[in-house]
Amino acid sequence: MADMNERLNQWLRDAHAMEQQAEQMLDAQSRRIENYPELKARMEQHIAETRSQRQRLEACMERRGTTWSGMKDMAGQFTAMMQAVGGMFASDEVMKGVLANYSFEHFEIGSYRILVAGAQAAGDAETARVCEEILREEETMASWITENIPQITQAYLMREATESDAAKR
Ligand code: MG
Ligand code: FE
Repeated sequence: MADMNERLNQWLRDAHAMEQQAEQMLDAQSRRIENYPELKARMEQHIAETRSQRQRLEACMERRGTTWSGMKDMAGQFTAMMQAVGGMFASDEVMKGVLANYSFEHFEIGSYRILVAGAQAAGDAETARVCEEILREEETMASWITENIPQITQAYLMREATESDAAKR
């Protein structure tokens, strides 16, 4: 049982680092968006949700008597994702950002599914409940991106055909 609880604590710390990374990524991207007001607004909404998720994870860890590191380190896991965000320097950075976010939300969904099952296995009903609640928020964000990809892509391609580089963001 000690092992199970320690593993769950570690997964909570990983999720905490993931949310810190999510906030940085969303913030960096949304600041640069100029011509996609709905996308920008939805990202800003999710930044607020992401901060709240991090705080809810901290409350779970405090209740469980464990701590998270002040320094986040998910070395490796997000390298590919961060390279996609390096798409910031690509002319189609808006689309690279959409792709990175779509992927990130699905990574989060997988992480919280595992956390819900892990918390249930460890008998921590409150952590399971919190992670289920966060899971729904990630699913809602992922669905929004899924539903809006056609429209954003078409708008992007129209702008690309008619506007200067700076106007594409
Ligand atoms: Mg999140
Ligand atoms: Fe998310």
